[in-house]
Amino acid sequence: MSSGRATQELLDRLVEGARAAARAGRVADYIPALARARPEAVGAAITSVEGELLESGEARAGFTLQSVSKAIALPYVIDARGEEAVFSRVGKEPTGDPFNSIIRLEASSLKKPYNPMINAGAIVLSSLMPGSTGEERAAGFRGYAAALLGLPSLALDEEVYRSEAATANKNRSIAWFLKELGLVEGEVDEALDGYFRQCATLVDAASLSRCGACLALDGLEPGSAGGSGRRLMSERAARVTKALMCSCGLYDGSGAFCVEAGIPAKSGVGGGILASARGRAGIGSYGPALDPRGNSAAGLSIVEGLSRELGLFAL
Ligand code: GLU
Repeated sequence: MSSGRATQELLDRLVEGARAAARAGRVADYIPALARARPEAVGAAITSVEGELLESGEARAGFTLQSVSKAIALPYVIDARGEEAVFSRVGKEPTGDPFNSIIRLEASSLKKPYNPMINAGAIVLSSLMPGSTGEERAAGFRGYAAALLGLPSLALDEEVYRSEAATANKNRSIAWFLKELGLVEGEVDEALDGYFRQCATLVDAASLSRCGACLALDGLEPGSAGGSGRRLMSERAARVTKALMCSCGLYDGSGAFCVEAGIPAKSGVGGGILASARGRAGIGSYGPALDPRGNSAAGLSIVEGLSRELGLFAL
């Protein structure tokens, strides 16, 4: 990265500048517990591939992964079960539909979720995780995610988990339809429970940026001399994940984001964005006020700004 001081100043400037975008956004409330987030909160962090962390604003504020978890579940399941187990049940194509859409499951000839970054695909992947109950699977997921985020462990936000589990009628409909298509392994309720728990994993922007740096190293742990050498995910899983983040990571705003930022990223309705610039750095951002597509309004402005100003564009 350019000098640490210049990058810190840039990050501070972008975080400050993103506050206006945050004011124009809205906190998600369809999961009732998410509505308690402060819409004005904004924070971001960058971790270089050498493992150097820069942070600004509320980079240590806790929030739940929500759909950012899909970019972590994918390499987890690819490495645990193999690519064939995943992609025989889930496609690799963008939809242009909202994340929780059910319409193509029946209407298209594919007869499987279009990709692992939408709810339908993620529920299938949840059913493929090691373990037989949602609780066991989510505990395995949290252990895997903690290593990527450079933390000893990760916690579950019980309130958000319960709030989603109590209100997720659409996800229940999707999951039962997936069962009808023969795509859910084991019990539908356990696949859903694991999915709600994975979404309710508590993180912050600083540790998300470290996960982005691991992806930037094609699966190696960040550290001095361009990675510590410890492999946290297979190179292939990292490549596949980043490709699908590029085409499907920001809901039906993925194309526009790719035009502006040109790097793989994944957002979630908890307000997080995870992004990765190959061979350079990982970015994590937090801003729970969302744009109409469900992407963090502040996060988009920060990640796009960093990509533009640091020349991270990979395409
Ligand atoms: N748990 C959320 C849901 O399934 C995740 C949505 C998101 O972040 O896109 O509705």
